[in-house]
Amino acid sequence: MKTAVIALFVIAGLAAVAVTQRHRILVYAVAMQGAPALADPADEGPAVYWHDDYFTVQPLAERTFAIGEPRYYQQNYSYLIVGSERAVLFDAGPGFRDIRPLARSLTDRPITFIPSHFHYDHVGNDITFENVAVVDLPYLRARAPDDRLQLRFAEHLGMAEGLRAPTLEIDEWIAPGSRISLGDRTLQLLYTPGHTEDSVSLLDLESGHLFSGDFIYPGPLFAFLPNSGMGDYLQGAATVLGSVPAHTRVFGAHRVAPPGAPELAVADVLDLQSALRAIRAGGLRGGGAYPVVYPVNARVELHAEPWWLQDWTPRHAALAP
Ligand SMILES: [Zn+2]
Repeated sequence: MKTAVIALFVIAGLAAVAVTQRHRILVYAVAMQGAPALADPADEGPAVYWHDDYFTVQPLAERTFAIGEPRYYQQNYSYLIVGSERAVLFDAGPGFRDIRPLARSLTDRPITFIPSHFHYDHVGNDITFENVAVVDLPYLRARAPDDRLQLRFAEHLGMAEGLRAPTLEIDEWIAPGSRISLGDRTLQLLYTPGHTEDSVSLLDLESGHLFSGDFIYPGPLFAFLPNSGMGDYLQGAATVLGSVPAHTRVFGAHRVAPPGAPELAVADVLDLQSALRAIRAGGLRGGGAYPVVYPVNARVELHAEPWWLQDWTPRHAALAP
């Protein structure tokens, strides 16, 4: 009897550790597999050209470029938006190759790097940018009194590919909802948490393009990571839907397959919001154990934690517009 009780306590203890340490276990499991080798170049269609043997460029409009890394297994897309005074590089990929010479070849204006969020496949890691702008969130500011922000395990997740979390040297803090002047064109920074606590999107007020990072793209959206939040995701969806015109073209940071940049529409964000509300209400069933895969529509699915681990309280509700 005594042995059985001890065994029960041990099993309960191990289960508790497995739940609280699930994200570290997940990252270690990914790291054990190792990153897949670069894929062979695919046919990217007539709108895209290869810059070299790794990067692709797709002009989306005059002075707006999608920069692809289609051979990297996560198929990252970064965006260069050029104005008369300066340019913004939204994301920089994993730093597997240096994106700066390519960006420099597309503009002679000073370039400000803005990460959509701090995951390792967006911040360029060992690459040091001359100008860095980051969303002005109080908890980030508090950690960077000297404007140097050391990224943390849960924000960066680079351990999955053997990458150390970098320190960002921040030149500009941009408040959620505020405008970024590039001279003759203006961007608006939207705080769109959900995938992570620090996720932002950029709205090009002139062209009607939204650059959404990992908040939304065609394929599996990850809402089960260490600093993901379901309540945050709902807040992000409401912010997008309340901020962008109906005809907005939405460009995400990953795609599933060629050709070209990953593009969605506002209707997909609306579908995401509907799916989130249905999950919260218990009206949408997902498949699988961990993560649970919820259908959003034909092009998008949401990978979340099981219902008993889902957190529906937004962490920064006061930052919603
Ligand atoms: Zn991410």
